[in-house]
Amino acid sequence: GRAASPRVLASICCYCGTGCGVKIETDGDRVLKVSGDEQHPSSLGKLCSKGLALGATVRGDSSRVLSAQWRSGRGEPRHDIAMDQACDIAAARLAQAIAAHGPDAIGFYLSGQLLTEDYAVFNKLARALVGTNNIDTNSRLCMSSAVSGYKLTLGADAPPACYDDLDHADTVLIAGSNMAYAHPVLFRRLEAAKARKPGMKIIVVDPRRTDTCDIADLHLAIAPGSDVALFHAMLNVMVWDGLVDLDYIARHTEGYAPLKERIHEFTPQSVQEICGVPAADIIQCARWFGAAGSALSLYTMGLNQSSSGTAKNAALIHLHLATGQIGKKGAGPFSLTGQPNAMGGREAGGMATLLPGHRDPGNARHRAEIASLWKVDSLPETPGHTAIDMFDAVLAGKIKVLWIAATNPAQSMPDQARVRAALEAAEFVIVQEAYANTETLAYADLVLPAATWPEKDGTVTNSERRISRVRAAIRPPGDALPDWQLACRVARGLARRIAPAKSGLFDYRGVSEIFAEHARSTAGRDLDYSALDYATLEADGPQQWPYKASTREPLRLYADGVFPTASGRARFLDVGYVPVAEPVSAHYPLRLSTGRLRDQWHTMSRSGLVPALTRHAEEPFVYLHPGDIQRYKIGDGALVRIKTRRGQIVLPAMGDDSLKPGHAWLPMHWGSGFIAGDGVNALANSARDPISHQPELKHSAAAIEVL
Ligand code: SF4
Repeated sequence: GRAASPRVLASICCYCGTGCGVKIETDGDRVLKVSGDEQHPSSLGKLCSKGLALGATVRGDSSRVLSAQWRSGRGEPRHDIAMDQACDIAAARLAQAIAAHGPDAIGFYLSGQLLTEDYAVFNKLARALVGTNNIDTNSRLCMSSAVSGYKLTLGADAPPACYDDLDHADTVLIAGSNMAYAHPVLFRRLEAAKARKPGMKIIVVDPRRTDTCDIADLHLAIAPGSDVALFHAMLNVMVWDGLVDLDYIARHTEGYAPLKERIHEFTPQSVQEICGVPAADIIQCARWFGAAGSALSLYTMGLNQSSSGTAKNAALIHLHLATGQIGKKGAGPFSLTGQPNAMGGREAGGMATLLPGHRDPGNARHRAEIASLWKVDSLPETPGHTAIDMFDAVLAGKIKVLWIAATNPAQSMPDQARVRAALEAAEFVIVQEAYANTETLAYADLVLPAATWPEKDGTVTNSERRISRVRAAIRPPGDALPDWQLACRVARGLARRIAPAKSGLFDYRGVSEIFAEHARSTAGRDLDYSALDYATLEADGPQQWPYKASTREPLRLYADGVFPTASGRARFLDVGYVPVAEPVSAHYPLRLSTGRLRDQWHTMSRSGLVPALTRHAEEPFVYLHPGDIQRYKIGDGALVRIKTRRGQIVLPAMGDDSLKPGHAWLPMHWGSGFIAGDGVNALANSARDPISHQPELKHSAAAIEVL
């Protein structure tokens, strides 16, 4: 039953983790207008170019997967089938693989684009019905180093700050983030704050002089991967200058002494070579941070997408712990979430290394708590494969059936040749997808048509721990269904085959029931929002966690200096500096990094549909320092072959003086549909952080050949 049209619904932009509120005006199944929602406390009516263009991305049915498709064998064409048959085939193939090879022959590769309710159902399906921990998501490529950084230092995966802190900080350290492009609405907020407070100091740490540097008082163009050396040297200066808060350290932290010992050798003079920035700049940066009334750090992929991502996160958090710059207005370490709902996915435990409510699958008590919530006897103990590892397990023949939902790994994962070989090696690949243009669809044996924004209901959590309702404004096209419904339909079919007693586990009448079950899993945990429900979100609007009662007052954590660790104290980690996994060499002399353009989102399956967004950059280039363009004798717009040890692509080169000599930069968005070869990530490195398992997408050693 739909209300009479036109009508206006409040929802959330489906792109980045800023989580801006939108108002969607519809007439029947037509979206008339998408505008900023002034009532949303995180974004106050603002939207960036991508959010403003959302209306133009809706219901272009030719760009959509409209029905289920199946092929009876590799090499056969796929043809349309009915939804019942598709769900039946999926359930049968899962049941066969489980019977023949055990539950760990199944893998789920999900997405930070999914809503919390989608995540919750998939997670229950994987662990409580299939019986595997092989469930991971593209958030592994995005935020997992932030997760491990928070957990190891502060005791829980909880960003302590809130957006309000951008207005109140005296010093803002932006590290490994081009927020002008990646989180534009937050960047504008910071820009406005600086205009109001000219004394505000902004430091940008980034190998490239990005547009974010336009508001910087100091730009540290550090060598890729040298962040830990830089942060240790900043701490060294703070110790030397007496800028550390010894009282805070003594009362609220542990582990300071060994770290202090370690950072002795990290003097600004000794690291300037490693970091490629003058010692004087490091000292200036440390003094602005250490002497600030309030210091805020904003960081994202530059720290996370690294083979030492956890150490980088920890080394940055140390600066806050050492100066007591946490738990107060305008202060704290603040990871900016890449995807719209990487936070909700973490809360729902939709990753191999997590269980619902920020629990740990390696912890028997945690497993028992979730088993009891889900009304099953037990949950699997065998550790699950994380993203890169999962595709390796497929390639090795350990995982036979792979179910991919709302993500495009055949373009987005590093070391593409390996990922595509894995997709070919799998016995059966299920791809649950809304868009007909993704590279991964080529590998699907079964395609399940998914609903997407603004056709589905649920919730997301943004970077500042704020839970908002995402609302279905129009019906999905064709046979498409919300992701949670597809998961439930296959799950019920699978339960009938392998565990009839569990059939009732997936009888949800709607998203509010899923949310209610999920919210119960947070009771007594750091993120506790067990008192929150859909009725409250409806009546009082978006709410931050931990949630006790509705408020619009911004919520920051750890104001009392008590941390969710065993001792109640935050921890300094004795982490060393480890260089990038793949150093440059005579054969591969260029430092290659990738990043985001302002107007595109990830693999462009949605944002690429909008001509107004494509105009900002119509085709991919590899950017090089003008001196290198001359040195390699590259003519204007000439084609070059850029290669790494993993692959090569051919595209035009362009001079860009925001790069240092010896550096190359590629926008991350273009896949094999546009570029000869496997697309940009053919080149990227899958070397992982040992703790977070996040790959080093931000650095490869590369070579260039002029064609
Ligand atoms: Fe959407 Fe992010 Fe832009 Fe906000 S900043 S409108 S959430 S893309």
